[in-house]
Parts: sequence; structure tokens; C-alpha cells
Amino acid sequence: MENKIIAANWKMYKVKRDVDAFFEIWRKYERLKNEIVIIPQAPLLSYVKNFLSYEKLGAQNCSDKKEGAFTGEVSPYLLKDTGCDYVLIGHSERRHIFGEKNEIMGLKIKNAIEANIRPIYCVGEKLEEREKGKTIDVVFEQLSVLKGLPSGGYDIAYEPVWAIGTGKVAKKEDASFVQGKIKEYLSQNKIGEGARILYGGSVKPDNSSELLMAPNVDGLLVGGASLDPGSFFKIVSSG
Ligand code: PEP
Repeated sequence: MENKIIAANWKMYKVKRDVDAFFEIWRKYERLKNEIVIIPQAPLLSYVKNFLSYEKLGAQNCSDKKEGAFTGEVSPYLLKDTGCDYVLIGHSERRHIFGEKNEIMGLKIKNAIEANIRPIYCVGEKLEEREKGKTIDVVFEQLSVLKGLPSGGYDIAYEPVWAIGTGKVAKKEDASFVQGKIKEYLSQNKIGEGARILYGGSVKPDNSSELLMAPNVDGLLVGGASLDPGSFFKIVSSG
């Protein structure tokens, strides 16, 4: 099996002593062939960076601006300077709790790429959209911001909103189907060169292996189950 990318979204959890405790256990595990990305809260980035050897560092969000009077925003140029290789853009918690609109996502992705950071662009439908059979329409609308951007330099995470933090995981066939459609969309529009498509939404040690083996699943974005080193290690070593 080719190498996968597996990213740990720590959301708004962990302070420094939790990071110490995580890495005290994590560093005893063997080095893995899969690409691993640790994505902590922004003020923890430098601290976490000190613990990393082969793992990469990612941020949870960034500004669509390079610099300026934008209090509370974080520039991707600073993220790069802090050692980040990746940034999540458009996570459903940003879209649905903080009201970030689709239109700004393209600007953020462009800004991150220009700062030499690889965005992981998150897309996915809400439960009511899925029940109305609108999954593909919603996902394609979210992907449309990629038109007119550099033709590559980013990855995509398919994260059905109803599966995030709920314990309801998408069936591997459903994840494969939607992720196959995402690949078709990218290739038809001649965009997304080299993009890997991750699945995210209630990934746990007992479902990660079948998801990682499913067609069109090039990696995983893991929230809750990445907070514990033991469960995250089981996930990253399962495929
Ligand atoms: C996420 O935060 O991107 C996520 C998928 O969370 P969880 O694994 O907890 O559903």
C-alpha cells in the first residue's frame, strides 16, 4: 500500500503539560512510513515543533491577508516561519460555528500557497443536505473556489459534517464514492494536481484500517481520537 497522510487535528484542546504527556508516550513508538501531521492550537505550534522529528506541523486556520491591521488573525507567513508545512482551511467548525463563507476559502488557500504552506481544504455536507441527496452538489460548490487558483499545492479533506465528533463514521463505500467524485471534479477542471484526498469524521482505531484501504482514500484527518497517543498510534499504524 502506498504511503498515506494522517493528520491529527487537536482542535482547542491541550496545554503545554498535555503536550509533554503526549510526546512522552509518542516518542517511544516506532517511526512510521505514513506521513504524519500534528495540528495544535496556534500558540502551541512552536512548543510542539520542538518535539517533532519526522512528523510535520500544521495549523488549524490562517488569514487571507499577508500582514496588516487585522487583530486576532494569523498570517500563513508567520505559520511558515514557525515551522508549519500544512494549514487546515475551511474546517466545518470554522464554516458552521464561526460563519466563514466559502468565498473567503479561495483567498486563504491562495495566501497559504504563496506563503509556501500546503493547505488541506476541508469540504463536506451537513446531515440535512445529505438527506436531500445534495452531497455532491454541496461538495462541488465548496470545491469551486479552487478554480482560478494555482493548479496544485493543496490537499482536500472530505469531512461529512454529520460525522465530525459524533461517533457516526461514513461507510467506506460512501467515503470512496464522494472522494472519487472529488477526484473527477479536480481532473475535469484541470486543478488539484497532486492533491491527496483525506477522509475525516469519527475516525477511530477500530475503523481506520478499512477506511485507509478504501479506494480514493489517500489519508485521514483525525480529531478526537488523535488526542491520545495510544489511539492515534493505532490509527497511523493501521494502514
Ligand atoms: C476533525 O476535527 O476534523 C474531525 C474529523 O474530528 P473527529 O475525528 O473528532 O470527528
